[in-house]
Amino acid sequence: MASVKRKGFTLIELLVVIGIIAILAAILFPVFFSVKEQGKRSVCKSNLRQVGSAFSMYANDWSGVLPPFSQVASWGPTGVTDLWTQVIRPYMAARRGAHVGVDYLVCPTRPDLRGTYAYAVNYPFIIGYPSYYGQQGGARLDRIPRNVLVVSDGWIVVYCPAWWRFDSDQDRDGLRDTMAATIENGVIYNGWGGKKHDGGCNCLFSDGRVEWVSLKDWVTNKRGIWGEARFDRYR
Ligand SMILES: [Zn+2]
Repeated sequence: MASVKRKGFTLIELLVVIGIIAILAAILFPVFFSVKEQGKRSVCKSNLRQVGSAFSMYANDWSGVLPPFSQVASWGPTGVTDLWTQVIRPYMAARRGAHVGVDYLVCPTRPDLRGTYAYAVNYPFIIGYPSYYGQQGGARLDRIPRNVLVVSDGWIVVYCPAWWRFDSDQDRDGLRDTMAATIENGVIYNGWGGKKHDGGCNCLFSDGRVEWVSLKDWVTNKRGIWGEARFDRYR
């Protein structure tokens, strides 16, 4: 008996095709994801490189000293302060827009966070207030060892974890990454702000290089990346 000429696929053929597509998707999806993340990481690194060159130009103008965390503003009513992101604006190539200076320095992993909210300074032993509980503003750039970071992905400031203890796990990955007492209205004033580049963050070091550091190394002060917890150490 002559077989009936089939049209279309049998169920088995269809399942095989679906299986192959699923395998290809499983292989390609992480590739697409990592290409996207690589792009974000490199935009973020270029932000930090710009900060590095602005810091170095600022230090040239100020006897080798880095900007303070904040200072009395040269504009506006008395009592207004400029944060470091405003202080370095004249040295930033990509500055634009509003006077408060939070419209630049955006990490693509958290486009809702800008400027001081997107990048944290190594506080207070490298970048501190000019006069506040013994703080002495910015350190001397040429006295900071090259393994010590100056600015990192994060929120506002990161108090050196060699000095203050992180006791809260913000991203629930089993690693204590934040000082619980410094969370106010959902804003983290000390610790990990929850934006990650593949389980780590970008850091600007004192010699101007920018490197990715795993969150674990960042939190545990591996290789002494936070420097020594002394106000006079790098002055
Ligand atoms: Zn970033």
